[in-house]
Amino acid sequence: MTAPPAARTDRPLLEVKDLKKHFPIRTGFFAGISGYVYAVDGVSFAIRRGETLSLVGESGCGKSTVGRTVLRLLEPTAGEVWLDGQRIDDIPLRRLRPLRRRMQVVFQDPFSSLNPRLKVREILAEPITNFGLASSASELDDRIADLMDKVRLPRDAVNRYPHEFSGGQRQRIGIARALAPGADLIICDEAVSALDVSVKAQIVNLLSDLQDELGLSLLFISHDLAIVEHITHRVAVMYLGKIVEIADKRTLFAAPKHPYTEALLSAVPVPDPTTRRNRIILTGDVPSPIRPPSGCRFHTRCPHAFDRCKVEEPALRTVAPGQVAACHLHDPAAQPVARAA
Ligand code: SF4
Repeated sequence: MTAPPAARTDRPLLEVKDLKKHFPIRTGFFAGISGYVYAVDGVSFAIRRGETLSLVGESGCGKSTVGRTVLRLLEPTAGEVWLDGQRIDDIPLRRLRPLRRRMQVVFQDPFSSLNPRLKVREILAEPITNFGLASSASELDDRIADLMDKVRLPRDAVNRYPHEFSGGQRQRIGIARALAPGADLIICDEAVSALDVSVKAQIVNLLSDLQDELGLSLLFISHDLAIVEHITHRVAVMYLGKIVEIADKRTLFAAPKHPYTEALLSAVPVPDPTTRRNRIILTGDVPSPIRPPSGCRFHTRCPHAFDRCKVEEPALRTVAPGQVAACHLHDPAAQPVARAA
């Protein structure tokens, strides 16, 4: 796989500030709210133009909910989302509509996200005509042909239905549909997770090439750190609704600072068979997001937990240039306690 190109500017295209999404729990149709699922509980990050930020973590950590809330497929409970300097979490949906053109999503399962009754031509024409981006039939044809070229599918395949394509080809159609309205931010929600290993690599390379060509920003949501390493500039690690570490890719893979990140990375296969990596096996299940643990949410599984971890939530603090982590072990004032624990 090719290395991702360098990010192009420092200006954030997307800023997410203290985002929360709590789902109410009702035990019956007429019953009141008996509690909340704290799926996303105070998440902040920014993505620059031409940059890929990967959001990683185990299944159920809230990473897909972050993506859907940014897109306002789910309404946020609290927090702010800014697209290119414009706040979008609190504007009416009719005002959001033109901005949706700029942020699109590629889902995990291209088959269920593509209308099986529409030919590829109709699938790609829909966003172009909806946003009024072609003034004539020939311009529409040209745009569709250009999209097929961009995702490296034959132009005459526009006359086929989704079921006539392989999984990887269907995901190329999903990417073409995301590009069709001229998006500059694409949220890839486990976009390669369902594909075979070799096809995953092809789609990741395609996304990298498109990013280089079009200056796209990508929010790459994945549980697969081995794939993330090939596409991303920076990585944000989520655990139980919170980001516990953010760093540029090289720093994070070489020197993770949060014990949860260390455990995730220890499970990533090392390409060099002569290199050994000590696997860290986490004990216990991921706690319920309905009743997250007090203090550090990771303390019930952390091999380094000490008394303070159970009562005080660690703040994200800078632990190295370009690297922040939420762990008391990296609080200079707490280190003597941590070492003695
Ligand atoms: Fe582990 Fe404590 Fe750090 Fe949480 S704050 S990751 S429990 S050492």
